[in-house]
Amino acid sequence: MHKHSKTTFMAFVLNLSFAILEAIFGVLFQSSAVLADAVHDFGDAMAIGLSAYLEKVSTKQTDLRYTLGYQRFTILAALVTASILITGSTFLIIENTPKIFNPPVVNHQGTFVLALLAIAINGFAAHLVHKGHSANQQILTLHFLEDILGWVAVLLVSILLQFTDWYFLDPLLSVAISFFILSQSLPKFLNNLQIFLEKAPEDLNLEALRRQIETMDGVHQVTQFNAWTMDGQRHIAMLHLHIETGTDERLLKDQIHHLLEAHKIAESAIELDYSSLEHQHHTKL
Ligand SMILES: [Zn+2]
Ligand SMILES: [Zn+2]
Ligand SMILES: [Zn+2]
Repeated sequence: MHKHSKTTFMAFVLNLSFAILEAIFGVLFQSSAVLADAVHDFGDAMAIGLSAYLEKVSTKQTDLRYTLGYQRFTILAALVTASILITGSTFLIIENTPKIFNPPVVNHQGTFVLALLAIAINGFAAHLVHKGHSANQQILTLHFLEDILGWVAVLLVSILLQFTDWYFLDPLLSVAISFFILSQSLPKFLNNLQIFLEKAPEDLNLEALRRQIETMDGVHQVTQFNAWTMDGQRHIAMLHLHIETGTDERLLKDQIHHLLEAHKIAESAIELDYSSLEHQHHTKL
């Protein structure tokens, strides 16, 4: 196995087994905070596993089945993972907010030992992954550090519970963790949803581009301007221009292609019409 995929695989297995252990011990120790961590780790495992697999698919070359390429498969991974996290954390917030006012008695000796163990293992994993410098490995390192922070909070609460009976701290921490998960996953979900729904790329000022094209020699009007993004990075555009008779078509198209390329539009199709009638003839918009 390639070294890079080995760390990904390790991170996947670690997060998944953690999630299962946390689910079991969360119930055993009556700790909502540990259960919230279970959801987080399950989401991490899904994100790591699914995106590793679908990212591989997404690099496949365009073919006759997917004529626009496979890049959207990474969007699918992000959408599925974000949906799981949103559902899980919303459920936890609904479930645990009332418990803040009527907290169950947490087995704090249990969560104390569990937290120490988790910090040690996550710390070791972060150290292993940290050696890599790819974007993916940096994200993985961040995940492990974030997990450690969650566990440090669990540890602190378990220590406090040693001396006090502030059992509300555990559901409170659970709700805090859930809100954190939600704050990360909701924007991610919405972003990727917009890409799925073919929204015009955020970083493109279509109005400015249209104006710029309409100042070019021979261009009468931009009658149609479609722009969408495959994955947030690679944009595609389709334009129809109403041009004047005698225009140097080759020069004009070349000018426009260069302009679009400068705006991260990797692929574009330009249709030239000599009258608005001609345009109406091939469009039903
Ligand atoms: Zn994790
Ligand atoms: Zn994480
Ligand atoms: Zn047209």
